[in-house]
Amino acid sequence: MAANVMEIYGSMVFNEHVMKERLPSATYRSIKATLENGQPLDIEVANVVASVMKRWAMEKGATHYTHWFQPLTGITSEKHDGFVSPMKDGTAIMEFSGKELVRGEPDASSFPSGGLRATAEARGYTAWDPTSYAFVKDDVLCIPTAFCSYTGEALDKKTPLLRSMNALSKQACRILRLFGREVEHVSTTVGPEQEYFLIKKEDYEARQDLILTGRTLFGAAPAKGQELEEHYFGAIRPIVSEYMKELDDELWKLGVSAKTKHNEVAPAQHELAPIYATTNIAVDDNLLTMEMMKKVAQKHGLVCLLHEKPFDGVNGSGKHNNWSMSAPGMNLLDPGDSPRDNLQFLIFLAAVIKAVDEYQDLLRITVAGPGNDHRLGANEAPPAIISIFVGEELEAVINAIASDSEYTAPVKLKMDLGVDVLPKFGKDNTDRNRTSPFAFTGNKFEFRMPGSSMNIADANTVLNTAVAKELKGYADELEKADDFDKAVIKLVKRTIRDHKRVIFNGNGYSAEWEAEAENRGLYNLRSTPDALPHMIDEKNVRLFEDFGVLSKTEVYSRYEVELEHYAKVLHIEALTMLGMARRQLIPAAAGYMSDIASTAAAKQAVSAGISCRAETKILAALSEKTDAMSDAVDALQAAVERAESMGDSLAEARSYHDEVLPAMAALRAAADAAEVLCGEDYWPLPSYSRMLFYVE
Ligand code: ADP
Ligand code: MG
Repeated sequence: MAANVMEIYGSMVFNEHVMKERLPSATYRSIKATLENGQPLDIEVANVVASVMKRWAMEKGATHYTHWFQPLTGITSEKHDGFVSPMKDGTAIMEFSGKELVRGEPDASSFPSGGLRATAEARGYTAWDPTSYAFVKDDVLCIPTAFCSYTGEALDKKTPLLRSMNALSKQACRILRLFGREVEHVSTTVGPEQEYFLIKKEDYEARQDLILTGRTLFGAAPAKGQELEEHYFGAIRPIVSEYMKELDDELWKLGVSAKTKHNEVAPAQHELAPIYATTNIAVDDNLLTMEMMKKVAQKHGLVCLLHEKPFDGVNGSGKHNNWSMSAPGMNLLDPGDSPRDNLQFLIFLAAVIKAVDEYQDLLRITVAGPGNDHRLGANEAPPAIISIFVGEELEAVINAIASDSEYTAPVKLKMDLGVDVLPKFGKDNTDRNRTSPFAFTGNKFEFRMPGSSMNIADANTVLNTAVAKELKGYADELEKADDFDKAVIKLVKRTIRDHKRVIFNGNGYSAEWEAEAENRGLYNLRSTPDALPHMIDEKNVRLFEDFGVLSKTEVYSRYEVELEHYAKVLHIEALTMLGMARRQLIPAAAGYMSDIASTAAAKQAVSAGISCRAETKILAALSEKTDAMSDAVDALQAAVERAESMGDSLAEARSYHDEVLPAMAALRAAADAAEVLCGEDYWPLPSYSRMLFYVE
């Protein structure tokens, strides 16, 4: 097996190893320069690369190529073009030019753009991101690309991410220079832990709600839920184990470093974590992982659910975004081995604390969405309030610095940081930090709010940009300082004093924390429509503009896209519920009642004295719930119509949140109450027990 893994690992990737082996050395050097310093690729070089890449891809079975990109909503997009080019003599050759490699023109007029492209010029182009390797998937050569409009605005999530990485790199290099470290590049690293559910395909196919919305909109709570927590890290079902093995193989072929896998807290829930990588690669890999998770499931008679809340009353799925900054040979969030390294560590730590406090709202927005709204703050995931967990040890250091007092245990640290070395901070072993949305875990931060279905490009774009901004402020100040060490301490001290409110080591799930967070002046943006309007707050637009990550127009377009997306999802969910209630659930209840009534009538016909108490009770109870369903259907219909008539996209999103969601909940409550009264053979939807506790 081990030998096999080494053989297949990266076998479908046009990686550096392949390039080095196959490209003429001058071409390889140009590509390297592009990879390392972002130098533009000239067309001659691109032509050579394209021809070598095509030959390689054809050996791997590819017949088509695609520019693989990340639109503003949805996951990834691809449009396949054949290599094939017919000749006059009736034969064909396989062609792929440098131009086709570096630039594509998908007919992208129907991708969401938030008004960025007028329909007349509804075209954009894709441009190769040579820092992400091309790969072959399903006989298609996939070329990771950025997607822009002809007027130059980014229409995707990758472009701003790359811009934010550059912004951070530039500022972090300035700081490192002050510490006597000349580096050309600092990158951010990400390791996303991906949660998902697996259910049987036949159950999935029997549910319109899962098919159309990715989550169950109906379903009574099962007798047994996750209360026993026996599933967590428990033995993996054989069918799931087979699935995980094949998934690993497929990911390894694509060079995705899938590393750990285990069961999660909820029944039928699992997790996969990769080894971390440079942020843009990690994002690409995570998108590929999600795609493969779905694809491989099909082969095993399973369906992979990536929705944040597929089952009510059962833990939802998130994606923990582990994040750090790294310079060659150095993790900048590692305390280091000398007082000077500690000082450097404290600067980067302070920058993150300040960034998270000042841009809480933006970070919250990056994880806002109709699915994740069901998860955040629901006692299973961090609340909608952003705070930072640093652990007791580090907090003691921080407090000592802020209050000018001496920090003692476990290692002495005098205020000038000149005596001893900061401890390496272990992960706090208490369970408490699982409730924190943003936790320091020894040498990286773990942002735990992203939803399982999301593209984490957004979260990392904001994180990088906000930290870049703080580092810039620090560098501006420190470059002018006479006594550097003193200036650093002053700066760290000031940051901690000003931003201490965002540090919270307690239980993030508790009600007290909500009250305390409010006292501290932290945001508590509970829902997507609450959060999104902050995207266009002046300070946030300015942040993106100042660092060249998004123009004002690009920010506004994203705001529009997200609002529309929210309304559209809720609209689909509401219509799906209406359809299911009217056409499946009410008829099911009616059918059962009809049979029960006939039974009672038949019994009476035999003998008027025979008891029909059971039938009567069932009929009375189910009839009441069915009436309630019917009334709730009317109310939901009316709520949807009101939301649709709003005109303004924010008002519409709010209306979906404030009126449609509660109407959906009411319909669900009535239907779930009917489900438990109705005969099993009559109810058309696979139950929660069946979906979550399948054996195999
Ligand atoms: P934990 O026990 O906290 O889950 P792991 O070591 O298992 O820690 O790491 C969880 C995830 O964090 C993995 O995907 C791992 O690759 C990633 N990770 C580790 N170090 C870094 C880093 N410096 N930057 C980004 N991600 C990291
Ligand atoms: Mg973790």
